[in-house]
Amino acid sequence: MNGQVLPHGVVAADFQRALGELRTVVDAQWIIAERERLAPYLKLMLPVEDAEHLPAGVVAPASVEEVQRVLKICNRYRIQIWPISTGRNFGYGSASPATRGQLVLDLHRMNRILHVDPVLCTALVEPGVTYQQLQDYLTEHDIPLWLDFPGPGPLVGPLGNTLERGGGNSPYGDHFANACGMEVVLADGRVLRTGTGSLPETTSWQAFKYGYGPYLDGIFTQSNFGIVTKMGLWLMPRPAGHQSLLIQYEHDQDLSKAVETMRPLRLAGTVQNTCVIGNADIIVANMVRRSDIWQGKEVVPDDIIQAEAKKRGIAAWTMLSTLYGTPEQVAPNLAIVKDAFERSGARVTLGVKDAMSTGELTLDSFRVLNWRPGGGLAWFAPVAPALGKDALKQKDLAKRIMARHGFEYLGAPTVGVRDLHHLIALVFDRRDAEEKQRADACFRELMETFTRQGYGLYRAGIGYMDKLAQMYGQTNREVNRAIKRALDPNGIIAPGKSGIRL
Ligand code: ADP
Repeated sequence: MNGQVLPHGVVAADFQRALGELRTVVDAQWIIAERERLAPYLKLMLPVEDAEHLPAGVVAPASVEEVQRVLKICNRYRIQIWPISTGRNFGYGSASPATRGQLVLDLHRMNRILHVDPVLCTALVEPGVTYQQLQDYLTEHDIPLWLDFPGPGPLVGPLGNTLERGGGNSPYGDHFANACGMEVVLADGRVLRTGTGSLPETTSWQAFKYGYGPYLDGIFTQSNFGIVTKMGLWLMPRPAGHQSLLIQYEHDQDLSKAVETMRPLRLAGTVQNTCVIGNADIIVANMVRRSDIWQGKEVVPDDIIQAEAKKRGIAAWTMLSTLYGTPEQVAPNLAIVKDAFERSGARVTLGVKDAMSTGELTLDSFRVLNWRPGGGLAWFAPVAPALGKDALKQKDLAKRIMARHGFEYLGAPTVGVRDLHHLIALVFDRRDAEEKQRADACFRELMETFTRQGYGLYRAGIGYMDKLAQMYGQTNREVNRAIKRALDPNGIIAPGKSGIRL
């Protein structure tokens, strides 16, 4: 067969036999093994080699039972499978597997919203449910609950994003913290329900996370220990009102003030949402194309960015924060927050809109992709304690390394409560082989330098998983491997995910 990628270690005749068996389980139109039909699954944005991440094919089951039967067949033939839910994973690997020759297990057809409880404010969803679908359901049924979603909100789904421990900007911004109960198909086909879900008559699967005994949900996130087929979510009751503030600082070094002012407000609960602090470069990059303001190969000089920012009223650092509640609740908090930021030297503007923090689905933050042509994006996401000095140190390090490789530092440090996720968009022209190679070298240097300084990444794309896992040390790897061996002795589920394999 032309250009056929075989599953790792499986001969062509066995793969054909396996496909034949899979067709007895999953409707044939939902099994792809022809290279020409794989295009939707080959949309890598990362600066990695496509050839190293080509899937052997795709199988898209429609039910838990089909997933179980697919696993049985794959176990028998030792075919490795890469589960995806909505399969976007933009800037972290799209729908592509960590290693060549895995069969993508596409769960997008399992897209039922099984339950929404407007009293307890919970939902139970399947992997293929998108945020847009869930939003439409809430609107249609007039249920006053808000969703929290990541940057590519409408296109992606809560189950996949939560498994990656992604985040958004409302008070429910830590997605895994707001997940409650999972259903997991294990490699041998058994079905585990976590939390109280293992009680046959459970009343509280989506209300109480921990159940009895070890709290297992965490081991199914960023891992390859099972296939998650259902997930419970906690949703935020629509607040009585809200008021967003635009907080702007004039100088590059003011990042420290932004973090130092925000942390105590987050700790005290005065500010309830996860706040992004964008630098001038990332906001300019959301508005113009790089080629509109600079044609050089080297990084856009600071004075050019500053001139563009000034023209558009963009500050060195821009933060949005939102306060929630009745007017009586918001008013005193607003006074406290406004005063704290103004005293730290910021300009505070009221009456602005912030869709991401107020349950309105938007794709706005994705405009950063237009900065350069060619669609290349790698998210570099190191974590620091929420301290001004660390934020500044990370900014200086990232800016220096990225400039050396010819890339602008498009920074969006985000204050959790005690942590700071320093999100950085590495945008590059993926069609330009030299630029792609530079982006890869840049990403590797960033990862190594930051990790050596004690700033671990919270997530990494395919192609970078092994390296990052190594940096987290021997014992950590051995424990993960022991769990992998126990739960998936043939190593068929997503080898290489988070650097974990048999
Ligand atoms: P999104 O479309 O929300 O960005 P994806 O569906 O691409 O999310 O999932 C992101 C990653 O999470 C995948 O690459 C895969 O490693 C893992 N993953 C997704 N769905 C599952 C699942 N149901 N079970 C186990 N792992 C999954």
